[in-house]
Amino acid sequence: MGRREIFAGNWKMYKTYLEAEKLVKELLSGLGSAGKKEVIIFPPAPFARHCADMCKGTAIDVGMQNMYFEDEGAFTGEVSPAMVKDAGCRYILIGHSERRHVFGETDDDVNKKIKAAFKHGLEPVLCVGELLEEREKSITDTVLKRQMEGALKDITAVQMEKVVIAYEPVWAIGTGKVATPEIAEEAHAMIRGLLKGIYGTKIADSVSILYGGSVKPDNIKGLFSMENIDGVLVGGASLKSDSFLDIVHV
Ligand code: PEP
Repeated sequence: MGRREIFAGNWKMYKTYLEAEKLVKELLSGLGSAGKKEVIIFPPAPFARHCADMCKGTAIDVGMQNMYFEDEGAFTGEVSPAMVKDAGCRYILIGHSERRHVFGETDDDVNKKIKAAFKHGLEPVLCVGELLEEREKSITDTVLKRQMEGALKDITAVQMEKVVIAYEPVWAIGTGKVATPEIAEEAHAMIRGLLKGIYGTKIADSVSILYGGSVKPDNIKGLFSMENIDGVLVGGASLKSDSFLDIVHV
């Protein structure tokens, strides 16, 4: 069986309730047959439940952009894993670069969140990726190794089969500077190599690794044609139905 082909849209902190509803309606009516492709949307937390209700029984799955790792407690402003599940979400985005670099999330936090996701029956989409200065210093491999090993500490092989990885070079997110298919492929192969070292070939070959960073309808073809790129995580271009659907229909 081939790896899952996943097309995910991260709406970040955009959209009102009515705009979110409109976008879901447009996506559902324009999607047609996604074939074996899986489509996931990550709406803002307050609208996740409504989006999940609208997408129930359709080809679109819903995920949350972030959550805290504790079950419950005095953590004002945070959302618990059980709340994410209760909102109808199947997926949880973990360790997005904006969480790491704007909100100071560490590899240890990311690891705790992955464990919390499994405890509550959520499927993690783990984001990793290097900063521009790290790429310029030629330490991308060291950074990816640290992020992957930190995130996956004590995660079992059975659990790993349910993790989706998103390689998102920070210099390409929201900048319009997409990685070339070759640069992205090199990083994806590196990540798969790391997985091989931890979990062996069979599991490493079954994990879907998505590329994220300024994906647009005009650059999706080259990226998606690479051997180790199994799908994409799209930010800006997922906010409009026509551009996101053009990407999904590559
Ligand atoms: C993202 O938010 O994960 C992302 C990749 O954003 P953009 O597509 O806008 O670069």
